[in-house]
Amino acid sequence: MHETIRPKTGILDIALYQGGKAAIAGRSDAVKLSSNENPFGPGERAVEAYRRAGHSLHRYPSSNHASLRAALGDVHALDPDRIICGAGSDEIIAFLCQAYATRGDEVLFSEHGFLMYRISALAAGATPIAAPERERTTSVDALIAAMTERTRLVFVANPNNPTGTMLPASEITRLADALPAQAILVLDGAYAEYVDGYDGGAALVDGRHNVVMTRTFSKLYGLGGLRVGWGYGPRHVIEVLNRVRGPFNLSTPQLEVAEAALGDHEHHERSLRENARMRTWLVQALRDLGLGCDRSFANFVLARFDTEAEAEACNAHLLSEGLIVRQVGSYGLPEALRITVGDEPACRRVVHAIAQFRGQR
Ligand SMILES: *Cc1c(COP(=O)(O)O)cnc(C)c1O
Repeated sequence: MHETIRPKTGILDIALYQGGKAAIAGRSDAVKLSSNENPFGPGERAVEAYRRAGHSLHRYPSSNHASLRAALGDVHALDPDRIICGAGSDEIIAFLCQAYATRGDEVLFSEHGFLMYRISALAAGATPIAAPERERTTSVDALIAAMTERTRLVFVANPNNPTGTMLPASEITRLADALPAQAILVLDGAYAEYVDGYDGGAALVDGRHNVVMTRTFSKLYGLGGLRVGWGYGPRHVIEVLNRVRGPFNLSTPQLEVAEAALGDHEHHERSLRENARMRTWLVQALRDLGLGCDRSFANFVLARFDTEAEAEACNAHLLSEGLIVRQVGSYGLPEALRITVGDEPACRRVVHAIAQFRGQR
């Protein structure tokens, strides 16, 4: 830290975000199951659009994202005027904190909630508040108990990362009903596509003036490297967020590739089908090995060991076998490993390696 030139309050409290490990030195056959990426990669349509977009890189991109918003509106039956696009949903989360929370304000989320809520709250100078969970599931009662006259934002990922658990619509509605007058509920739907028939909270947004939904192209669409996410909210909120959004926050390739990916139903269906099949298999295999593993509603599972030391030792063994999963100590779950549902060979390799590890003890 410099003696005289110092950042705003809160900035130095931010722990640098550690992404999922991406490689193992000296191993070219490593399998990455640490960032909830789609094991099948992006769809063909997205890859083609990315190639095409190269020819127009001299042009500035659209600043109002009208074409992508119209396509999103079509696919999800939403009003495009109430959609905002960002560089990942991370940027929408940052806009919300930047626009609605400042020093003295509180940003509320749950104990094992997504790390970006804390980071964005601190970056805005606000105070992050974590409410306890029950059995690795968001507790609406605990969130309500933690609400104060300073609460400005309440973030809930549904399904949640890294637990994979989910709250029913009735619980989300109960939470929305309990919001203090000055607060916004943000429903993070990064994994909503994986839940059959779930709208990510869109209907609740429509019925309220204080609920926002965020979504992403990073998970089901297989475009984490592209950085495109979006938010849907009441008109007054979207108008505010557009004021803090840079006019060219998304590049032409981002806009065009995301739009192309939206229509690639074959890619979505294959990804969803395989994820559901291998997730069921993985959860059962982990339970058969004696590990704790909750039902997951997303594209990853959380494997719970007896102790932090055991989780660490297993992680080391997996790395030695060329398998990269995620330690989630920073999420308050040091005895657990989060494993992205990979393709069948990857899932079999992980289970085989964990069985080896358990057998050696
Ligand atoms: C992956 C993830 C996101 C998406 O982040 P992007 O910035 O859109 O890549 C948002 N919320 C949660 C809970 C996630 O796990």
